[in-house]
Amino acid sequence: MSFDAIVIGAGHNGLVVANYLAKAKFKVLVVERRSTLGGCCTTEELIPNAPGFKVNGGAIDHILIQRTPIIQELELDSFGLKYVSIEPMFEVPFEDGSVLRFYKDLKKTIQEISRFSKRDAERYSKLVEEWSHEEALLERLMLNPPPKISELLGIGGLKAIFKPSMLSTLPEAARVDFNSMVRTVVMSANQLLNEEFEDDHTKVALSSIFSLIFSTMPPSLPSSGLMAIMHTMLYKTGLKRPIGGSGALIDALVSSLRAKGGEVLSQAEVRRIITDKGEVKGVELADGRRFYSKIVVSSVDAQRTLLKLLDPGTLDESLARKLKSLRITSYGMTYHAALHALPKAAKHELREEPGKLLALNSLEQIEKAYHIANSQRALSPTPLLAVNFPTSYDATLAPLGKHTLYCWAQFVPDNSPMIWEKEHKRFSEDAQNKIEKRLEEFWPDLGELIIAKKVETPGDLAERLWIQRGNTQHIDPTLEQMYYYRPLPELSHYKTPIRGLYLTGAGTHPGGGISGMPGYNTAITILKELNA
Ligand SMILES: Cc1cc2nc3c(=O)[nH]c(=O)nc-3n(C[C@H](O)[C@H](O)[C@H](O)COP(=O)(O)OP(=O)(O)OC[C@H]3O[C@@H](n4cnc5c(N)ncnc54)[C@H](O)[C@@H]3O)c2cc1C
Repeated sequence: MSFDAIVIGAGHNGLVVANYLAKAKFKVLVVERRSTLGGCCTTEELIPNAPGFKVNGGAIDHILIQRTPIIQELELDSFGLKYVSIEPMFEVPFEDGSVLRFYKDLKKTIQEISRFSKRDAERYSKLVEEWSHEEALLERLMLNPPPKISELLGIGGLKAIFKPSMLSTLPEAARVDFNSMVRTVVMSANQLLNEEFEDDHTKVALSSIFSLIFSTMPPSLPSSGLMAIMHTMLYKTGLKRPIGGSGALIDALVSSLRAKGGEVLSQAEVRRIITDKGEVKGVELADGRRFYSKIVVSSVDAQRTLLKLLDPGTLDESLARKLKSLRITSYGMTYHAALHALPKAAKHELREEPGKLLALNSLEQIEKAYHIANSQRALSPTPLLAVNFPTSYDATLAPLGKHTLYCWAQFVPDNSPMIWEKEHKRFSEDAQNKIEKRLEEFWPDLGELIIAKKVETPGDLAERLWIQRGNTQHIDPTLEQMYYYRPLPELSHYKTPIRGLYLTGAGTHPGGGISGMPGYNTAITILKELNA
């Protein structure tokens, strides 16, 4: 059978591309290897022996997509997508019994910080204003194929040494101090926080938001400072989650696609991308079925798409070497539990709905936790946890009166034991014990309330979701792999050396997270190329 376009992978980005192409009257097919659609954005009964308990198989927070036109343009609300806003967004409980809350309402957040330090509150207020302008500028760059750095800065070739810079044409640029912005982007989040703030509560709380919510990178890594800028979007979008769990976004995207005539096949693993004389011809599934098209879009990471799905020898040797060298590391793992009831916090006044970020006492401790994880090849002894009780705002996710707990845990070793490695069982059991011990420090009655649970190491995530090393963003969001360099400069415009074969997904610009932006940009690129 032949189509105008075939999309490999029914993650949210694959479905966004498919929707925009179908909207432009393309006959589109999406092929997905799993029986559950959605990739890292699903709602599933994942916990063994807990029927009726639905958990997010990957993402929980839908922040970035709120900064795009996707939901409105695809009319996803008319296909059943409904978001709930969580306010306060986050609570950070500390060992001394205090809690620092972050509200969408910036004034309220500033008041909260002033309970710990008046100076920090004033400084945060000023910085959020500065970072917000920078975020608005970056957002412009995110919702477009990435410009070359030379275009951005206006540095021309030999003919014209200085051309007008692209930045000079963007209204947001006028409000940005580039000298300070570039420094913020390249430095580590922890160094930035140490420079700007005096109180450990402020520093640790912000560090946890940057690390647990935005980048999942350790806040001591250079370039994690970028998250300071990015986190300000929370004051524009708020913290939103779909009713019915993350899978509700996928259900709406699939319904919207089908309404436009698009088709989606599950349990359809692509084993090979068919090419001939440098042009794409279609895909071959693991069961031998073949589908033909002059356009194939892959939402699988570039390394796997180009090195595993293309026939050996199709790619130029030097590009193959660069792809093999991409930085892909592990960040964290998950813990899910089905509960008889919500647990009671012993020492802190915690509300049910907000995300709870269980941090440490100082940035130094956070940094140490990251290094220990790597030296011991184990989850940090006192892990950083982002804990949520999704049933507290969405009763559809569990049997009547019952609850679920969703927890993301950091830090794991950069190259965590994979599921097939000998160490995996030890790693997994040890991690589960550490997570439960830490949770019970805050909710001592939790153990008695657990009906069933499931822990997923980076190796388990890699196996279930086909994300290498459990990397939630397909490849690392370090600066050398961001913007024009994502995944590599020669692949940064969603195109590949094979005519008609495009890349999309978290491993392309602007990166991971529930944003739909890579999918949106890929669709724009294809439609522009075809003048459609
Ligand atoms: C545990 C976890 C928690 C997260 N939390 C958040 C969060 O709270 N907020 C947030 O914004 N982001 C979060 N993320 C990140 C975010 O979910 C991902 O970056 C994003 O969903 C990636 O979407 P994608 O469509 O680009 O790729 P994916 O969702 O990975 O989709 C790719 C699809 O391709 C399919 N596929 C792969 N190979 C083949 C093949 N050969 N043939 C056919 N199909 C194939 C896969 O099965 C998958 O369905 C989280 C991720 C994880 C794993």
